[in-house]
Amino acid sequence: MHFDHSYAKQLADLSSPVKVTPLVQASLALFNSKLAEQIQFPAELSQEQRLLEALFTPQGVLNQHPIAQKYGGHQFGGWNPDLGDGRGLLLAEINGKDNVSWDLHLKGAGKTPYSRFGDGRAVLRSSIREYLASEALHGLGIPTSRALCLIASNEPVYREKQEHGAMLIRACQSHIRFGHFEYFYHTKQHDKLHALFQYTLEKHFPECQATDNPHLALLENIVTSTAKLIAKWQAFGFCHGVMNTDNMSIHGITFDFGPYAFLDRYQADYICNHSDHAGRYAYDQQPGVALWNLNALAHAFTPHLSVEHIKLALGQYEVVLRDQYAHLMCQKMGFVQSQESDMLLVNDWLTMLEQNQRDYTLSFRLLSEPELNETRFADHFIDRSQAKAWYRRYQERVQLDSRSVQARCESMNAINPKYVLRNYLAQVAIDKAEQGDFSECERLLEILATPFAEHSRYQDYAKAPPEWGQSMEISCSS
Ligand code: AMP
Ligand code: MG
Ligand code: MG
Repeated sequence: MHFDHSYAKQLADLSSPVKVTPLVQASLALFNSKLAEQIQFPAELSQEQRLLEALFTPQGVLNQHPIAQKYGGHQFGGWNPDLGDGRGLLLAEINGKDNVSWDLHLKGAGKTPYSRFGDGRAVLRSSIREYLASEALHGLGIPTSRALCLIASNEPVYREKQEHGAMLIRACQSHIRFGHFEYFYHTKQHDKLHALFQYTLEKHFPECQATDNPHLALLENIVTSTAKLIAKWQAFGFCHGVMNTDNMSIHGITFDFGPYAFLDRYQADYICNHSDHAGRYAYDQQPGVALWNLNALAHAFTPHLSVEHIKLALGQYEVVLRDQYAHLMCQKMGFVQSQESDMLLVNDWLTMLEQNQRDYTLSFRLLSEPELNETRFADHFIDRSQAKAWYRRYQERVQLDSRSVQARCESMNAINPKYVLRNYLAQVAIDKAEQGDFSECERLLEILATPFAEHSRYQDYAKAPPEWGQSMEISCSS
């Protein structure tokens, strides 16, 4: 079978070999056949027994060279060198379609040298949350790690209460985090830092390696892809919740899902992480935090880059972010040719949503209802005259584009999702799964794979949360 282990072999000093610790009474609960096909995952391993053998037996094909990677990270602003894969293992790399290399990473695989006080496990609840979120983001077109499969078990795992252990195999370009570079820089292990740069450039960024200044090109690449990612998070109302630098991927993908949320009601300073008392990672803080994180990463480039070059690279962040965000918001509003004053109209819209506690996702779909008029629009807001005034401006604006109402509405419905993974929907699926029934997970995955489509059988899934689902407290515990 065609598995590679380039990180394990070329960077042996930067990780520790660790075998998978099997889970008791394990079963294959979810399997992502489409992704399996894309990454050319061996077909026979989609069978429960074969997969469990591959993972859990000493001779299993996915248990040959598993490693725990060493990294550090800035957690809530403070440097922590004592991080690393404490419960995840890089199993192998695999060559997918179009010659794209994918990491296969098993989360919840048992203790490693970096587990500290942790048990090395992941609970079913958080594994489902990660599975659903990564596939939901993918459905929206937001770069993310992907979920290949979920293994459930009867193994008790203790968090606030007793839960069941689970494992998730996730796939993405690599698991190299900002914190990898930070760790080897701050511990002054410059040989290892250098080796990591060389490996990263050669394997993952050959186009940067080919330039006059590969390190500058690499930093610019990471800055730009991160800016584009954050623009998408903001436009789709996604809150990550734990934007520590060890949870930031160098590939500009959404990575390491914890207490994330999609906005229900629009609230700029919404905090999805119940443990984030200061709101460091609030929704409206995400753009600034990502720049802070890039700045932390950039320190690790100082052996290779001048301060001027670093400033040059970091300086691109705000430009790209603003440009991408404006572009996305104009698409969401149904504008074709962007105009000077478009963002004023967008910002007034967001202010109105916030003041009226309107649902973020549903409000954009309201704007593309073909029968919408001033009166109907105003019905959704408390201050009717304010709503009407805004709506008149909006009408004047869309008429500038000389496009039919139908064409505008169609294009808006192709970027404004009808369905997002609201926390309460995930919770319903988790509650059922904890009883052994994964049908609700499967249903959500089906809907969220095409979140712009109508799904006439599933209209309820588009609704704003019921009362119990409006103030859910999601903590870091996972
Ligand atoms: P996270 O908060 O999930 O991003 O993890 C932060 C750090 O804690 C990483 O180094 C993880 O590997 C480690 N960690 C989280 N949960 C556990 C656990 N249950 N057992 C061991 N290490 C863990
Ligand atoms: Mg993490
Ligand atoms: Mg995590």
